[in-house]
Amino acid sequence: MRRRELSGRMKLSPESSVQYIKGVGPARARLLAKVGVHTVEDLLFLFPRRYEDYSATKNIADLDDGESATVVATVVSVQVVHSRSNRLLSVVLVRASDLTGILEAKWFYTSRDKQWIERFASRFVEGSKYMFSGTIKREGQRVSMLRPTYEEAEGDADSSGKIIPVYPLTEGLTQQHLRRFIDNAIEAGYLDGLPDPIGQELLDKYSLPTKAEALREIHQPSDPTRIKRAFRRIAFEEFLLLQVGIALKRRVRIEAQGIAHAQDGPLVRSFLESLPFNLTAAQKRVIDEIRADMESTRPMNRLIQGDVGSGKTVVAAYALIKAIQSGYQGALMAPTEVLANQHFNTLKSFFTPLGLVVRELRGGTPKSEREETYEGLRTGEVSVVVGTHALIQERVEFGRLGLVITDEQHRFGVEQRAFLQQKGERADVLVMTATPIPRTLAMTLYGDLDVSVIDELPPGRKPVITRWIRASSRRRAYEFLRKEVARGGQAYVICPLVEDSELMDLRSVVSEAEQLEKTYLAGLRIGTLHGRMPSSRKEEIIAAFASGDLDVLVSTTVVEVGVDVPNASVMIIENAERFGLSQLHQLRGRVGRSSRQSYCILVSNASSSETKARLEVMTRTNDGFEIAEEDLRLRGPGEIFGTRQHGLPDTRIGNILRFMGVMKVAREEAFLIAERDPQLIHDDHKVLRMELNRRFADWLDLSTVG
Ligand code: ADP
Ligand code: MG
Repeated sequence: MRRRELSGRMKLSPESSVQYIKGVGPARARLLAKVGVHTVEDLLFLFPRRYEDYSATKNIADLDDGESATVVATVVSVQVVHSRSNRLLSVVLVRASDLTGILEAKWFYTSRDKQWIERFASRFVEGSKYMFSGTIKREGQRVSMLRPTYEEAEGDADSSGKIIPVYPLTEGLTQQHLRRFIDNAIEAGYLDGLPDPIGQELLDKYSLPTKAEALREIHQPSDPTRIKRAFRRIAFEEFLLLQVGIALKRRVRIEAQGIAHAQDGPLVRSFLESLPFNLTAAQKRVIDEIRADMESTRPMNRLIQGDVGSGKTVVAAYALIKAIQSGYQGALMAPTEVLANQHFNTLKSFFTPLGLVVRELRGGTPKSEREETYEGLRTGEVSVVVGTHALIQERVEFGRLGLVITDEQHRFGVEQRAFLQQKGERADVLVMTATPIPRTLAMTLYGDLDVSVIDELPPGRKPVITRWIRASSRRRAYEFLRKEVARGGQAYVICPLVEDSELMDLRSVVSEAEQLEKTYLAGLRIGTLHGRMPSSRKEEIIAAFASGDLDVLVSTTVVEVGVDVPNASVMIIENAERFGLSQLHQLRGRVGRSSRQSYCILVSNASSSETKARLEVMTRTNDGFEIAEEDLRLRGPGEIFGTRQHGLPDTRIGNILRFMGVMKVAREEAFLIAERDPQLIHDDHKVLRMELNRRFADWLDLSTVG
């Protein structure tokens, strides 16, 4: 398209190339492409990473003792002072000026790692401007902040009094460039060319701005409340689209013809009778839900949520045996080799006595064995196959696949699950996760799913007693571990790294195991486990630990999922500050798996208040849902679900957990729309339909909606 065609009376198409925006041109368009911006629409949806609020900054001269404030100032000097009296103590002192005065920003460190401290200090560049926020300490003319939060300030002379958007950057483009391009696009009138799928009725009902108004506020902000409202509006639209799609898919599924599995007969009954324990009420309830799903002609699509140790595997086994009883095969896919192997062993122990063949397919499976399994799956001789991604390879064909189970689903993309499912004909689908997710979110993350919750642990489980100690008390922790081993228990020691890194004072598996062997754990039988080992070696070690041939397993987080050694009763987590809350919870889930009282000892010299809060949550509760909520609160949701990992199509708002409230109402409205107007032919829904097809057609596979 030539530039001339765009001007004049032609309708401005948001899909035209960004290069035609004033100031961009072909060279800068190539730079923009690096941040994913190809069209004008992409540019308008390039959201600021953050905002800098110059309307609330203060002059250093005006600051009072004790107030919390934000200051923009230019760094004039950066010093690192190592204390002479205390070898461990260092201070980073940054002095910055805003022409009305000097601010001293200070960070105290107690660490041997001087190099790290020097590197921290070198983040501050003399002559560059930063925004410092924190609590003011004023002693006469001296103004300081202890451990302020800081950011390089991106604003310029025009910024004063304004709120400034700060965009994700790529080399060669400055903030000023991006602000100018976007301003030019807005000025050229592109906002009005954007299709707005939210009708006036909904805008009024939820007092939302139009799409054009929202985008204008996002890029040319006027105040923080309005910025929030603008993002809510964009989120509402994203969710509405997704949820309408999901609602339509759901209708299709409910009407579809799936497998009607037979009622529970002798095979299922012998499985249930062979279990070495009584099912919990929660397990029974979820099994009832699965039974109803599987016996109905509707395809099953169900998510099972259950905290670590709640006993999801046996529930999965029920579904498998039920499928087998009706003459079908089942597949279980797990995200890691360790977990796949664990499931394989469990299922083999359930099903082999019933005369069924269970096989395993993983990266490490020898070729000849693999060929045999392929053959057995084709002929139907193999009833159940357990594996990693290896299951979705082309060569894997099933005679009659009737049930597909994925564990820890959030680690797989939606496509991977769909791939496996397509190896059968309308196979039933079961998804298991130990990551507690609010129901509405689960449905969005996983599409059209029914949700079951196993909200009860097997009887006799005692909550794991968790303590947080400083590194100076490590010796006592290990003495305690020895006592537990002497009483017949086993223990995990978790370290963050595989090999020692010189830069960080972190405890690492290899050197830790050597150290411990000589000191605290002398005389005990120790195994080491980490991700870089060949998987056969990993299995050997885990098997040795499981059978009691090892007393202590020194490991990285590879034991985080799946490893099930009920006799293990102590876990020591070194450098616990390095792990996120959910991860700590998963790790801790490796102990407390029997009626034996278990203990988790977090070793950390954490000093930041966020880290302290995290460790304290761990000592306070064992409840996965509570921990997930705290995690959200402390860490912000972005890190819990990577934006890509969850398998959603790209929504434009990044971190969807920020908008849970919006998601709920959008879902309600979406289901109403899908019910009243499933073809989306109503005038109010035309834009919605167009947008769904334009943006989400592949993901939602709406071809079936007609
Ligand atoms: P998760 O939900 O974390 O996958 P598992 O299925 O691995 O949990 O079960 C954890 C442990 O609890 C296993 O050792 C399993 O055999 C045991 N278990 C499961 N259900 C029960 C039950 N109803 N009573 C006693 N033990 C159970
Ligand atoms: Mg069914």
